[in-house]
Amino acid sequence: MKKLIIIFSTNTYFMKPFIFLLIAAITFGCKNKSNSEVETTTIDASTTHNNDGNDVAKKGLTIYPIDHASMVLQWDDVTIYVDPVGGKDLYSKYSTPNVILITDIHADHLNSETLDSVAGEGTNIIAPKAVYEKLTEELRSKMEVVANGFTITNSGISIEAIPMYNLRKEALQFHPKGRGNGYVLEKNGKRIYISGDTEDIPEMRNLKDIEIAFVCMNLPYTMPMEKAAEAVLDFKPKSVYPYHFRGEDGFSDVEKFKKIVENENPDIEVILADWYSRK
Ligand SMILES: [Zn+2]
Repeated sequence: MKKLIIIFSTNTYFMKPFIFLLIAAITFGCKNKSNSEVETTTIDASTTHNNDGNDVAKKGLTIYPIDHASMVLQWDDVTIYVDPVGGKDLYSKYSTPNVILITDIHADHLNSETLDSVAGEGTNIIAPKAVYEKLTEELRSKMEVVANGFTITNSGISIEAIPMYNLRKEALQFHPKGRGNGYVLEKNGKRIYISGDTEDIPEMRNLKDIEIAFVCMNLPYTMPMEKAAEAVLDFKPKSVYPYHFRGEDGFSDVEKFKKIVENENPDIEVILADWYSRK
């Protein structure tokens, strides 16, 4: 089942003929959730669409959850893949990426074969140094290495590398501080946070003005759901997507996460998207 979520759209036209679109004009802050084939959420004045298969225009942000840590973001005319793994077939429906963001070296974030098959001529791969060291010369030639705390601009989007690391003693070896990158993407004052694999570090809790956050929660590798909820209540994104929530003993309780966060702060919307049905 395909989930399609559309955010900050004013005029969104759809480019893929196979995507059935169900888009309503929704005012800021309202939600449109259904169990139909397509789920759309819009936070702006109105949306229009056409689904005749033409690339008429691409406006707004569309989020395509792919699997676990992998997603495709279509932000206006820029296509961003985040941690594309799982083989090229998972990405065949999407445009060639302008930008690929890689957070870390583990197999659920980095797969050279997938990268090789999805990266096009003009694709820029943005990643930490530890990822660079794992890749072939060819992929390195498309790369820009960004360390924690640094910001670059690519395709009109400012991209800041945010630290990601474990805090619990028993988990420190999973993600040492400095190796991986979370990211904050910013354009036109809209800020999107992608946590990568991390615990509730101060660098997350201190984030400001985040529109949409993707926050991991799985054990033993990242953090318990309750800690993720605490952190989200601290930095107060407008919307948060739990992602990367499959752990060693199954899935984290994202329904409970939603309840905790929305009960404590009804201004934060928790969006439960379908991250695990495609593989
Ligand atoms: Zn991971």
